[in-house]
Amino acid sequence: EVTEEGEAVVAAVAAVAERIEAEREHLTDLDSAIGDADHGGNMARGWAKAADAASDLEDPDPETVAKTVGKTLMSEVGGASGPLFGGSLVFAAAELDGGITAETAVAFAETYLEKVQDRGDARIGDATMVDALTPAVHTFKKSIEVDDLPPLEALAKAVDAAGRGVAFTVPVRARKGRASYLGWRSVGHQDPGATSTLFILEEVLAVSADR
Ligand code: ADP
Ligand code: MG
Ligand code: MG
Repeated sequence: EVTEEGEAVVAAVAAVAERIEAEREHLTDLDSAIGDADHGGNMARGWAKAADAASDLEDPDPETVAKTVGKTLMSEVGGASGPLFGGSLVFAAAELDGGITAETAVAFAETYLEKVQDRGDARIGDATMVDALTPAVHTFKKSIEVDDLPPLEALAKAVDAAGRGVAFTVPVRARKGRASYLGWRSVGHQDPGATSTLFILEEVLAVSADR
């Protein structure tokens, strides 16, 4: 039922906002090592506003919630990551037209990843959010389409894969974004955007498992 699904998405957005706020300093620390120390603040501000905007929606359906959150992130997060998180979400939201099923969830995930790559031009191994996102999306799609797992199990596997992707950003050299300016000095540092991507996925899983 569309309304109930919309409320689940609003709840997920609230959970993400709370988690990102709790991780604000952690994300700031990661970004201060290889960037400009604003990722925690950017994301906490953007997700708090996004949660407000989502909860203000009169009659939320998944597409509208996702679109609203994306637009808010685009205008509030700023930096390199705002347009990547927000703009990609606005595009991917259209895949949720008609509700959330295993099929539309896969389409949403694939479109989101595609847009992040179109906009940021980062490949896997460049030590960006793409390193968390790519294994998550590929694992989710494969778990649903090939292994025929229930969506919740597929999502849990996707979150595990994202975690391994985050760990992979540590020993490789950053090739996109501010961290790339450091050259070889970026080696040994965990990417902030990959880390916040993992936190978002963990909260979506937690809310989905609760319902
Ligand atoms: P800024 O670097 O402008 O201060 P943030 O600190 O909010 O922006 O976000 C930094 C994160 O954005 C990085 O950790 C990385 O994951 C992500 N990022 C930066 N550039 C790109 C890109 N071209 N493609 C994908 N992700 C990127
Ligand atoms: Mg930054
Ligand atoms: Mg910045």
